[in-house]
Amino acid sequence: VLSHPLRPLLLTAARSQRLERGLTRMPATRRVVDRFVAGATRDSALPAVRELLRQNKFVSIDYLGEDTTEPAQARRVVDQYLALIEVLAGLPAPDSEATARPLEVSLKLSALGQALPGDGHAVALGNARIVAAAADAVGLWVTVDAENHTTTDSTLSIVRELRQHHPETVGTVLQAYLLRTEADCHAFAAEGARIRLCKGAYREPESVAFQRPAEVSASYLRCLRILMAGKGYPMVATHDPEMIETAALLATAAGRGRDEFEFQMLYGVRPAEQDRLVRLGQRMRVYVPFGDQWYGYLVRRMAERPANLSFFLRAATAQ
Ligand code: FAD
Repeated sequence: VLSHPLRPLLLTAARSQRLERGLTRMPATRRVVDRFVAGATRDSALPAVRELLRQNKFVSIDYLGEDTTEPAQARRVVDQYLALIEVLAGLPAPDSEATARPLEVSLKLSALGQALPGDGHAVALGNARIVAAAADAVGLWVTVDAENHTTTDSTLSIVRELRQHHPETVGTVLQAYLLRTEADCHAFAAEGARIRLCKGAYREPESVAFQRPAEVSASYLRCLRILMAGKGYPMVATHDPEMIETAALLATAAGRGRDEFEFQMLYGVRPAEQDRLVRLGQRMRVYVPFGDQWYGYLVRRMAERPANLSFFLRAATAQ
């Protein structure tokens, strides 16, 4: 893949506080942020969560933290999650069903200290254990997000540790663009794990990842077939009509009922399609980010992968 000419500019922009202040004051920026981020604080994000639940959608909530550079920062992220879990536990959610929990938190291990020099892996594991135990105690799910490929081994080994104590609670994300993911799907499907399959949002080298969109889609469908045929609970995270249609067919072919897998989309993206799937009786979970670190999140997402810039612009203008 050619290098994206806007990338260095966007990555510099993502660190510029002056630009952040300037952009924040622009009404157009506010509209984009409000479209994709549910609120700057936990309390301001709750109305969006309640509204999604009222629409019979399930929810996964992500606290937008910055890259964690010191242990104290990681502990503050843990505290945010503990407070969030307490609030979510009190929400009137749709009836909890046998095979799925309506409320979930999504967790980035980098925010919990994974990248700290020396013992980052151990720090992130310790912090993730605290969050998983709290979520388990009140019946919420935890899904560990996938980040760039240099973290995958550490992340999946932490997920396996967490699943030893909380097999029903903890699931994770696999990215179809990585060459390794088909094998990871086989392993996690055999373990009966809950897996969110996405295409992948980071900029990855050819040595580890498919580059062409058609190759990524083909890998996505191969991985889906494995997950649908396996013992776990597949979570189909995509806005791509072809992936959505094929997922439903693969589920039927594998003998899965509509309560034995779910679709997932990002907050603010293709809401009409989310509604359509709910009307069809499919499970739909919306990934809802909140927090005041939206600026770095949105701009970096655009810089990480050229397609994200048009992805957000297209979603911002689509109905
Ligand atoms: P794309 O390849 O972006 O688009 C394919 C086609 O879908 C388009 O050609 C178009 O026909 C249609 N489409 C897409 N968007 C729109 C739109 N707004 N309006 C109309 N049509 C549209 N990535 C990670 O790396 N790690 C994670 O942990 C992670 N978690 C995620 C969780 C969820 C719930 C979701 C939905 C995504 C997550 N992602 C994650 C991001 C993911 O990897 C992709 O970058 C992102 O979803 C874009 O890929 P796509 O499959 O949606 O379709």
